[in-house]
Amino acid sequence: MSSPRVGVLALQGDTREHLAALREAGVDAIPVRRRDELESVDGLVIPGGESTTMSHLLRDLDLLEPLRARLADGLPAYGACAGMILLASEILDAGAGGREAVPLCAIDMTVRRNAFGRQVDSFEGDLQFVGLDDPVHAVFIRAPWVERTGADVQVLAEAAGHTVAVRQGPMLATAFHPEMTGDCRIHRMFVDIVKGQV
Ligand code: GLN
Repeated sequence: MSSPRVGVLALQGDTREHLAALREAGVDAIPVRRRDELESVDGLVIPGGESTTMSHLLRDLDLLEPLRARLADGLPAYGACAGMILLASEILDAGAGGREAVPLCAIDMTVRRNAFGRQVDSFEGDLQFVGLDDPVHAVFIRAPWVERTGADVQVLAEAAGHTVAVRQGPMLATAFHPEMTGDCRIHRMFVDIVKGQV
């Protein structure tokens, strides 16, 4: 199989670090801002940032429905932090005033936006992660947590008693930011998922 092409949604947020981590994991990685770019990728990373702003930009750039359609069609996706929020089927504390975060409904889960943020804005910790031998050093920044998972969702990691990483088929999500620590194992895991699909 030829090397897959993986996109990073580049509307806002820390796209550069994800592109670097994907390249390190051995794939062709491109920023995605337009519909033709979205159509050209075999997998998509939705980075951290601000889920309300990203939702607004997705609508403004006419990417919201094309992205929903590709995800419904099984495009593998990995969402980190704000990206996890967007991949959910239900968002609690989604925001107000017409600038709410919109669920892309790719993973059957309910997430609470800024859940850890209400307790402490950011924190770090070492987590056991299903499928990885050594713990992951996880950086949480105004992070969500997962309050409900559907029957087909596998919990991959927990922090402080809350679910913070999940997988459902070709969809992966973490409440933390692996791109910030130079540890590419979660990006590699996602690349393996993408390779299994193309
Ligand atoms: N709190 C942000 C949101 O609601 C997520 C923060 C992050 O991505 N680091 O989208």
